Amino acid sequence: MPTLFVKTGDITEEAVDAIVNAANATLRGGGGVDGAIHRKAGWELLEECVRLKGCAPGDAKMTRAYRLPCRAVIHTVGPIWKGGAQREAETLASCWRTSLDIALREGFRTVRFPSISTGSYGYPIREAARIAVSTVLAHPFAGEVGIVCFTDEDRAVYQEALEEALREG
Ligand code: ADP
Repeated sequence: MPTLFVKTGDITEEAVDAIVNAANATLRGGGGVDGAIHRKAGWELLEECVRLKGCAPGDAKMTRAYRLPCRAVIHTVGPIWKGGAQREAETLASCWRTSLDIALREGFRTVRFPSISTGSYGYPIREAARIAVSTVLAHPFAGEVGIVCFTDEDRAVYQEALEEALREG
């Protein structure tokens, strides 16, 4: 089981083994956290991403980190919220699981995630946080996982989900 914590911050400043990007299926960059990661990493990241030829929702692909202070970027594609009957929960859980599968395979010790799908993809954050926390806590990756929220309000939601999951064992 990973060590899991939640914080407020800018994920592009995390000097860890890998940060996870909430990318889109084209892997050609976008807004939100994806835009921030590409801006800071530099044009080489976009060039490497283009060579990966996209990524399916729920899947994840790794690249180098270029001018970011981390060692690698794990790009995952969250579900677009369409009301909850389009397997959004399964797809979101798969994002977190597949990203941690890569971290485990690569021998990483420290990984940081943003709040996947809860920005422009519209996933309700309470439900997204519950899925994120339970998926991380069920994963065999034994390193340190931090969820880096952009606002204190979002951090409080993830913190509550984490405390609830730990209470329920
Ligand atoms: P998605 O398309 O998966 O919803 P977004 O990038 O629109 O992805 O939003 C995901 C979350 O990332 C949102 O909570 C947003 O506030 C947050 N975010 C945006 N920039 C950063 C950043 N630099 N560091 C951490 N989180 C960020």
